Amino acid sequence: MESPLTKEQIDELNSIVKLPVEEQRKALAEFTKKLSPEQLEFLKKGQGCVFCSIAEGKIESKKVYEDEKFLAVLDINPANKGHVLLFPKKHYEVLAQMEDVSELFNLANNIAKSVFEIVKAEGTNIVVNNGTVAGQMVPHVVVNIIPRFKDDKVRIGWEKTDVNEEEMSELADEIFKNLKNKVVKKEEKIEEKKIKVVKVSNVGYLERVP
Ligand SMILES: [Zn+2]
Repeated sequence: MESPLTKEQIDELNSIVKLPVEEQRKALAEFTKKLSPEQLEFLKKGQGCVFCSIAEGKIESKKVYEDEKFLAVLDINPANKGHVLLFPKKHYEVLAQMEDVSELFNLANNIAKSVFEIVKAEGTNIVVNNGTVAGQMVPHVVVNIIPRFKDDKVRIGWEKTDVNEEEMSELADEIFKNLKNKVVKKEEKIEEKKIKVVKVSNVGYLERVP
């Protein structure tokens, strides 16, 4: 498919993805303001997606793993030396759209083991951000594999939220029941179509299609 983006715009996008994360967010917001509805639609659908472009070899990368379905590359803005991005070659916006993530997470675990040994790490974080509110920068499923060192500058954390005992019990019960439908019928494939991503302003969230 022919890109509705101009060469200058593609160049600008390529330079934006090389910026540090915080600057990237601002630059992307400014960039998308200048686009026509057609161009925005094109980007949303995944054409022009940075990770799809890396998978197609349109953007250079330092590969650490590749097979038919997955690619793993060094992050060009690494949180630490050895920060690897593992992603499916097919464009999925969030993890929930993937039918089966077992291969993806087995791979992530093995890559984490290799990185751990190579950079002589003391720990690792394996992180997936699903949706803009969760800190997802590019709408393509990516597993971050971050080797950790004592006193490094990586910050992954949260403050405690108060939830009372009663709410906790109800929550546990609801999740337990809901999960039964998903886990029990393991052999029955979850239809990908049942889940779609709905965009409301800048926030992506999941919705079950009736
Ligand atoms: Zn993509």
